[in-house]
Amino acid sequence: MTDGAIETVMERTGQEDIRLVRFLYADHGGIIRGKAAGTARLPERISSGIGHTVAMMAMSMLDQLQPVAGMGPVGEVRIVPDPDTFVTLPYAPGAAAMLSDLIKPDGSPWEACPRTFLKQAIVELAGEGYAMQSAFEPEFTVGHRETSPAAPTIPDRLIPIDDSLCYSSTGFHQAHNFAMELVAAMEAQGLEVEHYYPELGHGQHELSIRYADALRAADNHVLYRETVRGVAFRHGLWASLAPKPIPDQAGNGTHLHGSLIELGTDGNPGGRNAFADPADRNGLSPVGYHFIGGLLAHLPALVALTCASVNSYRRLTPQTWASAFTCYGMDNREAAIRICSPLRGDPGSSVNLELKPSDSSANPYLALGAFIYAGLDGIRGKLDPGEAVNVDPAILSESERAAGGTHRLPASLNAALDALEGDELLMDLLGPLRSSAYLAVKRSEAAHFAHSTDPYYECFQHFTKI
Ligand code: GLU
Ligand code: MG
Repeated sequence: MTDGAIETVMERTGQEDIRLVRFLYADHGGIIRGKAAGTARLPERISSGIGHTVAMMAMSMLDQLQPVAGMGPVGEVRIVPDPDTFVTLPYAPGAAAMLSDLIKPDGSPWEACPRTFLKQAIVELAGEGYAMQSAFEPEFTVGHRETSPAAPTIPDRLIPIDDSLCYSSTGFHQAHNFAMELVAAMEAQGLEVEHYYPELGHGQHELSIRYADALRAADNHVLYRETVRGVAFRHGLWASLAPKPIPDQAGNGTHLHGSLIELGTDGNPGGRNAFADPADRNGLSPVGYHFIGGLLAHLPALVALTCASVNSYRRLTPQTWASAFTCYGMDNREAAIRICSPLRGDPGSSVNLELKPSDSSANPYLALGAFIYAGLDGIRGKLDPGEAVNVDPAILSESERAAGGTHRLPASLNAALDALEGDELLMDLLGPLRSSAYLAVKRSEAAHFAHSTDPYYECFQHFTKI
């Protein structure tokens, strides 16, 4: 917390007529949850947090509590907000929000706090002399929630607001009022809008915001998810960032972008992009290649955290630009890791790596933390990522792919969880409490949806929550 942060929050709540401040966190089911404090005792609540049951990190995205040792009916944590993240919510007049840590009653970090996991990854990375700059690049679907007269036998559906073509100006026209309010709401919260456009799927839109340091990027993604849905509700619409809210439409990716900045002698980012090497044919430095080596080595396990729902694997299919194979390529939109070509006039700082198997059902703190740890493992072990794949890997034969070390990504949440359980490094870093809770929650979600053969049921459960 920076000096004077609590005073700044109190000044703003007074000036902006704020009555409730939401303390938000993301759980293992990928759901954003929280409690709100009134303003009269806000300074005390910022210091002490709001009491919360430990069991909530064992809750699935279906609100089914899983049996996890240490997360039963007995025990408390505190939802402790970071006052530097205070924003008033343009779509919820009178309300503000802060992103929060889950802290033990004695003030020490709780072993299952996701935001702490990311902070620890950032510290570990700083030990190697780097800071990560990152951006989540989400797609989402805007529509109306249609309830069937036969509900719940027939699940609700998301009916897209447009059937416009990819990047078509018709899509701009049809969503204009919603989009303008969305942009204003993002900017009012300090999320700088870079691009906006109608995407391929019906009702699918993409709005990207400027990268930030890793913790801020994950905090921004929580605010982003809240804002997309909050603004849509005010327009009588339903917006979903679920990976596949509609079975036969394009999936919503939330590609994860990152670059490493060298730290100066004072411990602050010194400005040089450690991934950039203009002399290399892909513009990438040896550190960048090693980072990819680390991502590839852990990728099947990593996707259990970045593509964290049953619905995620409906999206991760070949030839949908979502990525389905463990390879990297230069501006290759079918590769799991894409080296993004530098912008003209900015060859040094704009090189970054994009992880395509990533979506908004993930807990952004766990996803980005694990992304950093996997890349760091590659840097430390100087892992060789092999040759870039600069064709669509789906058109190669199985043996051609195998010769280049390219394999199919896990095709289901359970397969990804198996890989995670087999990944010693990531399991160690998650720690026993967090990993056991995460696996219990995710296995329960996989088991729940295994009973239904209706894709609309799975899509319904996801579009209403993510
Ligand atoms: N919708 C695609 C996905 O699921 C991404 C399309 C694009 O490259 O923007 O990741
Ligand atoms: Mg896109």
